[in-house]
Amino acid sequence: MTQTKKNIAIIGSGLVGSLLALYLKKYGHEITVFDRRPDIRLVEFSGRSINLAMSNRGWKALREVGIEEEIRKIGIPLDKRCMHVIGKPEYHQKYGKEGEAIWSISRGVLNKKMIDLAEEAGVRFRFEEKVWDVDLPNAKVFTGESEKSEWKEYDFDLVFGCDGAFSRVRHKMQRRSRFNYSQDFIDVGYKELTIPANTDGTHKLDKNSFHIWPRGKFMFIAMPNLDGSFTCTLFMPFEGDISFESIKTKSDADHFFNTYFPNVQNDIENLIHDFFKNPTSAMVTMKCYPWTYWNKVALVGDSAHAIVPFYGQGMNAGFEDIYVLDQIIKEHGDDWETIFEVYQKERKPNADAIAELSYRNFIEMSSKTADPMFLLQKKIEKKFSSKYPDKWIPAYSRVTFSERPYAEALAYGDFQESIMKEIMKRPQIEQEWDSETVEKAMLEMLADKTI
Ligand code: FAD
Repeated sequence: MTQTKKNIAIIGSGLVGSLLALYLKKYGHEITVFDRRPDIRLVEFSGRSINLAMSNRGWKALREVGIEEEIRKIGIPLDKRCMHVIGKPEYHQKYGKEGEAIWSISRGVLNKKMIDLAEEAGVRFRFEEKVWDVDLPNAKVFTGESEKSEWKEYDFDLVFGCDGAFSRVRHKMQRRSRFNYSQDFIDVGYKELTIPANTDGTHKLDKNSFHIWPRGKFMFIAMPNLDGSFTCTLFMPFEGDISFESIKTKSDADHFFNTYFPNVQNDIENLIHDFFKNPTSAMVTMKCYPWTYWNKVALVGDSAHAIVPFYGQGMNAGFEDIYVLDQIIKEHGDDWETIFEVYQKERKPNADAIAELSYRNFIEMSSKTADPMFLLQKKIEKKFSSKYPDKWIPAYSRVTFSERPYAEALAYGDFQESIMKEIMKRPQIEQEWDSETVEKAMLEMLADKTI
């Protein structure tokens, strides 16, 4: 179906806003993107590279708009986890089947590239222009220096809120009756640190692995950058025995890294420097509904659904929103009211599902990995899935390497969990976990049970 040209505002030039601009520009619309930040292409590089993992859903959305190959050039494929467990040599866990990988990509490089591509396509960007208010029924946008300063007023036909987890556009929708909203912070924070490249520019750790140092209540991860460095993230409780609060001095930090991360000792000076220089950030799950207002305003990406990052899916989910929205636009042409209605109904259950899966992964990593019965269950599942890969697809693969809806991944995960609950009830399970009897019981339950 064709589309009549519209004058469209996108609030936010982040990953989601700039990709949405590219998609909508294809239809010949007039697109203006507002961002409160300066143009990141002109900001001097701070030396800190923050990266994220792109997986199948993200790639699919980039492919549809013809930029997949260009973006692959700025990424590094990671086909396995490299586990750094105290008292054991490093070991690897393949992510999926042969050829399956997640990709480490610098957030800044990706965002700059997408803004470039959108600008080349004719999208207008207005940087350093913060949106303070939106007149929802009339699709008017108000920008200005501060909340109290004089505001500029712009008229649009449609407004998209891509302004992140603390969205101003959503804030305006929140004041309406029957708008549901919830926000939950977890008690764990994160800090980004760097492991620099070797002097010859090579990587200090295997560059095709996602490195994990699991330590129970806290965890350290590292993903490679193209320049040979690794961006690391330390996840740790804000308060408590071992926490951000408890590491106050250089010697506390020195002790902490030496005790828990002995194999990064050579980089300890750098890690400690970053530890005290970089901020500690919080993580939130944010849910809301509805996501749209009449045929005028829609939320896309983190503004509609912010999730904790333990599945590496926030951006991927935002990109999938855009892909799905585009399919609906193709079907309904100029009927924006229907487009928005179908979009929110289709995406909301999936956004809730990935929020739940991400939160569960956080709980699993932070509290269950010390439970021997939980570890035994994982061992049984792993063995079964490698023997019957078509019968037992692990949750991680269904989320990361599939394009099936997140809600399906969650429902299937619950189905597998119900089987495992029965298996783990067997009185002799600790002795017979590796036996044919257990395998047979699982096969029978798979045949009998339905989702
Ligand atoms: P944002 O990136 O937040 O962009 C919002 C934009 O709106 C910003 O440019 C901001 O300046 C602008 N803005 C805000 N308010 C206004 C206003 N009032 N007026 C004008 N402009 C405004 N996702 C993955 O898929 N894979 C990962 O590996 C991954 N790792 C993560 C690790 C961590 C530690 C965290 C916290 C998140 C991670 N994510 C990951 C999630 C991912 O970062 C987000 O889902 C994604 O950045 C959301 O993009 P967005 O464009 O919706 O919002």
